[in-house]
Amino acid sequence: MIYRTDYHIHTTFSDGKAPPEDYLAAARIAGISEIGFSEHLSLFREDQEWCMDPANVSGYIEFIKKLRKSTDGLIIKTSLEIDYIPGKEQEIESFIEPLDLDYRIGSVHHLGDKTVDLGPEFYEGKNFDALFESYFEKVIQAVSSGLFDIIGHCDLIRIFGYKPSKDPSGLYKKLVKSLKINDLAFELNTNGRNRPLADFYPDRRFLHIFREQNVPVCVNSDAHIPSRVGQFFDEAYDLLRSAGYNEMAVFSGRERKMIPF
Ligand SMILES: [Zn+2]
Ligand SMILES: [Zn+2]
Repeated sequence: MIYRTDYHIHTTFSDGKAPPEDYLAAARIAGISEIGFSEHLSLFREDQEWCMDPANVSGYIEFIKKLRKSTDGLIIKTSLEIDYIPGKEQEIESFIEPLDLDYRIGSVHHLGDKTVDLGPEFYEGKNFDALFESYFEKVIQAVSSGLFDIIGHCDLIRIFGYKPSKDPSGLYKKLVKSLKINDLAFELNTNGRNRPLADFYPDRRFLHIFREQNVPVCVNSDAHIPSRVGQFFDEAYDLLRSAGYNEMAVFSGRERKMIPF
């Protein structure tokens, strides 16, 4: 039996569709041993409806702590999926530093002022090769910022199924080098299967690059509804095994440990 963790979950505290307690039964059904809540926090862009109001963050953390008391066996972790905003590193750090989090997921959702994942119209009339490269550059900046423990959906720019015209392996190598130097984990995010992309993030063709540098991995669903907790995990573990992985990262109080799967 694989010790399954699902560290990327959204509830009604941000843009998920159910309260945290509704995800616990779903986690048990999916054979999950540790569930981690990771609501969207996007400082300086607080008017976006998919993010939580920063004023609610401490209430959210307290709520998840209380939930831990009633879970018989299921381990609950507390986190945030924090938007990386270049030039705001210090402000982000001073906001999140006092928070009692088990790990921090850092994600890039914006290029310029617009989000890359809310609709395909963002891509209309744009050069996808340039967008792809800009997205990677921003993710690499997020990795180097020192703010995060796990980088979220590292090639989210693939969400609508557009493909770069050139071989992107050099960009994956650059990203992996940065993950290695900065000692971050990445996630195999299964939610891309529910999007036009219809596959995981990152691109399975380049997982061997992550493995060659032994970058720690977590398998995460990025569920916004309870029925998607642990979704496609059997396939995800098989894929990781075929890339040469046999262990995954678990987090507690921002300490990382590796366990076999
Ligand atoms: Zn995200
Ligand atoms: Zn997410």
